[in-house]
Amino acid sequence: MPLLFRKVKELRNHLKGLKCDRDKPVSVGLVPTMGYLHEGHKALIRESLLQNDITVVSIYVNPTQFGPNEDYQRYPRDLQRDMAICEDLGVDVVFAPTDEEMYPLGFSTEVYVKGLSEVLEGKFRPGHFKGVTTIVLKLINVVSPDRLYMGEKDYQQLKIVERMVKDLLLPVEVVPVKTVREPDGLACSSRNVYLSEEERKSALSIYKSFLLAQELINKGIKDAKTLRQKMEEFIRSFPLVRKIDYIAFTDKDLNPKIEVEKGDRILVALWVGNTRLVDNWEVS
Ligand code: AMP
Repeated sequence: MPLLFRKVKELRNHLKGLKCDRDKPVSVGLVPTMGYLHEGHKALIRESLLQNDITVVSIYVNPTQFGPNEDYQRYPRDLQRDMAICEDLGVDVVFAPTDEEMYPLGFSTEVYVKGLSEVLEGKFRPGHFKGVTTIVLKLINVVSPDRLYMGEKDYQQLKIVERMVKDLLLPVEVVPVKTVREPDGLACSSRNVYLSEEERKSALSIYKSFLLAQELINKGIKDAKTLRQKMEEFIRSFPLVRKIDYIAFTDKDLNPKIEVEKGDRILVALWVGNTRLVDNWEVS
């Protein structure tokens, strides 16, 4: 079993001990997660295990990144199951702190990446990215990792964390990991457990709309407005898609695009029943 830590001080002491005990420098990889681990998380963990001497997986459902009417309470949690997955993979350390540990009484310091946090997801989930950057910075401060593993599944989050690391001169390398999908194309997500069988079929509209857009791009249609229209029409043909928050075309740095080209991103957020899904696609 991996060692499980719930307290910042105890984890720090353990990592300090490891670094002192060995004659060679010890590299540490950090994989921050909210738990209920799936194949996407596993890909991040495997990458970290390959590249580092020690891998720390953090499991923490961070309250400050959820809005007041979001799914914080019902977010799936199962530490025992996650520990078993981490054991199978060969993870060294799991950090699953309490709220009191991460947000000491009187907590009043936050970190915020301007601009990038205000577009796309930021428009629909105000305050979300402030919660994300604050907790990621705190986890970096606790673990002092050499490398930080983030999924492209949450592309905007990845870009914002990269920005923060650069701006604050944090001594850590951000390693992006490609999106892992179910065999039918649905991006792995802890939130997929919310979907009924019927809803899952409608959830596939996102991946299928990416394939449609890619096909149109391959045929020479590069105009973002036309592509958006076609994707929207297609997605709306799925009965349980309740609302599309956005279909956006950007370059790799999230600047909006009018003419789409190779390397750009298509980002989608939509609701299937009461479940909000986000996904993105790299234009090839
Ligand atoms: P979460 O537990 O949802 O906060 O995700 C923790 C990390 O796993 C984040 O860096 C996510 O981008 C990444 N992740 C989540 N789903 C996937 C996926 N399907 N493929 C790759 N990475 C993912």
